[in-house]
Amino acid sequence: TPVIEASDLVVRYGPATALDHVSLRVDAGELVALVGPNGAGKSTLVNTLSGILRPAEGSVSVHGRLAHVPEGRQLFGDLTVEDNLRLGGRRYRERDTAPVHAVLPRLADLRHRRAGTLSGGEQQMVAVGRALMSRPDVLAVDELSLGLAPLVVADLVEHLRELNARRGLAVLLIEQNARLALDLCSRAYVLEAGRIVATGPSGELAADA
Ligand code: ADP
Ligand code: ADP
Repeated sequence: TPVIEASDLVVRYGPATALDHVSLRVDAGELVALVGPNGAGKSTLVNTLSGILRPAEGSVSVHGRLAHVPEGRQLFGDLTVEDNLRLGGRRYRERDTAPVHAVLPRLADLRHRRAGTLSGGEQQMVAVGRALMSRPDVLAVDELSLGLAPLVVADLVEHLRELNARRGLAVLLIEQNARLALDLCSRAYVLEAGRIVATGPSGELAADA
């Protein structure tokens, strides 16, 4: 069953077409990659899926809750990890962070640290944790690997895999780093200049990459 179903999306910025008849589907519990170079339309697509942008044509349906981990993490550096997490929930109570600590135990150790003092990888984990506060069915993660060392990325990816395997969380991984996204995800879409130019099992796409 689909958690995200987008059909024939057309999005324009003035005269420029950013998405040209794009269709995409993410099933419950699936790990799907969306890869493409800078300017391909990835952010436009995610913003359309999350309802921030309205398409000129086509339709989006999201069944369940979609949470977004934005590019660049967007944490409040002066606030503690726990306060940053609370800002992701609908109610800001102590016990609401416990489920996130259960799935990302490192965050429990870091809870009293100010987010601005954490490493890039730790900050990315806080950003993922904050998105999990809304108990999403699907998580759209923007540029997980940006500016992070490969080992740090591998650790974050392991957490995403575990959330997927143990909670059935669907993940849409939006990446310029095609190799990483194809390694993590079973299925992928390749977006170039506003069009889906390839889609299929990651293994087949990686062979061409
Ligand atoms: P990506 O996320 O893959 O880098 P974007 O979705 O940000 O791609 O951009 C797709 C295209 O739309 C690019 O050509 C970009 O310059 C253009 N674009 C993005 N946002 C705007 C905007 N607010 N106004 C005009 N053009 C935009
Ligand atoms: P365990 O897998 O160790 O048995 P539990 O099943 O008891 O852990 O779940 C621990 C907590 O994680 C629960 O409170 C549960 O509601 C919460 N949880 C489940 N799915 C998610 C999710 N997608 N994001 C955040 N918390 C979740």
